[in-house]
Amino acid sequence: MRLTTGCTTTDPPTRTTRTPGHEGADACSVRAAPGSTGQHRAAPGGAWRRGPSGPGAALPSGATPFKGPFAPGHECVARIVEPGPDCTAPTTGDLVVVPWHISCGTCTRCVLGRPSPCERTPRYAMFGLPLGGNWGGMFTERFTVPWAQANVQRLPDGVSPSAAAAASDSLTDACDAVRHGLQPHPAQDIAVLGGLTHGRCACACAASLGAAGVMYVDRDGRRRSIAEGFGATTVDNARELGQRRFPVTTDAAGDPRSLAAALKAAAPGGHCHSIGICFQPAPLPLMTMYMDAITFTTGRPDTPHLADVLHLLQTHSVGPLAAYSHPITFDDLPEALPELPAKPRVLLD
Ligand SMILES: [Zn+2]
Repeated sequence: MRLTTGCTTTDPPTRTTRTPGHEGADACSVRAAPGSTGQHRAAPGGAWRRGPSGPGAALPSGATPFKGPFAPGHECVARIVEPGPDCTAPTTGDLVVVPWHISCGTCTRCVLGRPSPCERTPRYAMFGLPLGGNWGGMFTERFTVPWAQANVQRLPDGVSPSAAAAASDSLTDACDAVRHGLQPHPAQDIAVLGGLTHGRCACACAASLGAAGVMYVDRDGRRRSIAEGFGATTVDNARELGQRRFPVTTDAAGDPRSLAAALKAAAPGGHCHSIGICFQPAPLPLMTMYMDAITFTTGRPDTPHLADVLHLLQTHSVGPLAAYSHPITFDDLPEALPELPAKPRVLLD
């Protein structure tokens, strides 16, 4: 079984790809469970239809700088089918979460807990996007994980692959965003400026990470109802927050206006973290941030945070399924993806 969430491209996804010279003895191959239709079955073909601008449609609609063709997908739970000789644990048959980034596990940055800017891989190297080389994507049935022993995390007992399908990136990113702000300010209210799936994931994580209350801001009623299901209070526009300020704010919309609103909503001495990813430069109100002592952070999530997220799932402190789409079969993916209003949850077998 392999479940994945992720993104796609303007062109049909390609076959599983490998990057020669980076596999190493501690790499391993992962794939769908026995019963799937073949090691290198091509992903569904045909042009992506252009549909409404749901999060699953961001890449097909051309709303990002990433142009195809390339193999999409950077989040999954997978089963190990062919471990390298130095990859002893986890091993064949184990279900694992595969982090989005490509990293060696032994360089200075990796050892210090920052594998995403690994010193031994090209800048921004990752699965699913053509950054720092072509490492394949997780919408394909079988792909190779370099330095697997240092990166993959065994799925804990009692955690369903569906629940952990976005732990590779989005869920870990969202949890870490909330935790960043709550560590110095426990038991405080947070505000999430939503839009992307990450925002609902942040709502799903907030209570278990110590938030006293969650305010979720999103113009979309369906997304607000999901956030309310996670216990959040919601409004449809940041203006409705009025003069209210929050010790912790999270931008999860990918929009400079959302980022500005998240910064404006931060209380003096507060913390704002952006997981929204603005593709263009966005202005920051640095004078106000300086005067009000607002701390701003952003950055891609790293593997060390993944273990904590899996623990939250194992203890049922976080149940993120409502943040994802309904399960989609692999064959239905090309048609379904551009129309999806949420991060796709794909069942490969
Ligand atoms: Zn490294």
